[in-house]
Amino acid sequence: MMAIEGVFWCSTCLNMSTRNRIEFDSQGRCNACVWSEEKKTLDWKGRERELKELFTRHKNDGPYDLIVPVSGGKDGSYVAYNCKHKYGLNPLCVTVHPPTRSNIGYTNLENFKKSGYTLLEVNLPYEALRKMNIRGFVEQGRPLYGWTTGIFSAVLRIAEAFNISLIMYGENGEIEYGGSNDSKYRPIFTPDFAKNVFLENEVDKTFRDLNESDAYFWTFPDKNSKVELAHWSYYEDWDSYRNYMIAKEHCGLQEREEQNSGTYTNFAQNDNVLYDLHTYLMYLKFGFGRATQDAGIDIRRGAMTREQAVQLASLYDNELPETYVDEYLDYYQMSRAEFDQVLSKWANTELFTFDGHNFTPKFEII
Ligand SMILES: [Zn+2]
Repeated sequence: MMAIEGVFWCSTCLNMSTRNRIEFDSQGRCNACVWSEEKKTLDWKGRERELKELFTRHKNDGPYDLIVPVSGGKDGSYVAYNCKHKYGLNPLCVTVHPPTRSNIGYTNLENFKKSGYTLLEVNLPYEALRKMNIRGFVEQGRPLYGWTTGIFSAVLRIAEAFNISLIMYGENGEIEYGGSNDSKYRPIFTPDFAKNVFLENEVDKTFRDLNESDAYFWTFPDKNSKVELAHWSYYEDWDSYRNYMIAKEHCGLQEREEQNSGTYTNFAQNDNVLYDLHTYLMYLKFGFGRATQDAGIDIRRGAMTREQAVQLASLYDNELPETYVDEYLDYYQMSRAEFDQVLSKWANTELFTFDGHNFTPKFEII
């Protein structure tokens, strides 16, 4: 095992220098770890005042105060619960139907509805969505790109249609999990920021040839749009485990009986089986997978040591979601050979060797 030039890990969690836009301080701590320390002494009361001002500013004459995008999972449920029960608002919850929803995903969304929310479900045009996801998978190594774009663009369309000017997302991943610090002290971001940073500036290229009716839900509003996007994690200390407990208690959230593929947890991101492929590709492209991400969260909340995390990441990150491969082939309309070829196209050859069957890391997490 040799060190790979320029590749290193956060001194506190396992975030890797290969992660897009990630920033490290002089002690080798990633921006997510620096932020998790900063959160302990932050003036959260002041942030809550800002949240109330935000709600006041977006008061409108319509029936809904804001949109909360949800999937039936812990984070959107937590935000919707707080908007409704803590702040007395009437949220319109919006979900964009994922292409391959799991059984547990169905159950959880049903349970969420039954716990008392208005839910609007967007079904993107099926064949166009399939085509865009295939394109994302083959051309970018992002197997869900059509859908992840829709999570922003379609929700923005709904906001405009209902005259709602505030969309409240869960956490800002750049800050909570590692990425650019640009938006750290910014409460509000624009549709353009979502397009360029969260969607990595690939939207116009990917959705280049859709016909007008198919394109509707993937079209971003123009620059004069009054809609603002916010992240709950700016206003309240984000704790995904707490969210899980609240969603379980108040929104009927259930976890899977077995752990999710590629990791040791069973309660996060389990509503869509293509998510497993998404994190596996992240591993092949950048060298860190789903277990690394989950372990980073656990380290930062003080529930795991770095040594334990290294063990878990080495054990689980390199796990191809084999159980779902047939479903993937069916969805992408590909043979297994074509599918494997796309994986090997995106695997980083500086980080992995490939023997035609398995990808083996050349590195050891240190
Ligand atoms: Zn870190």
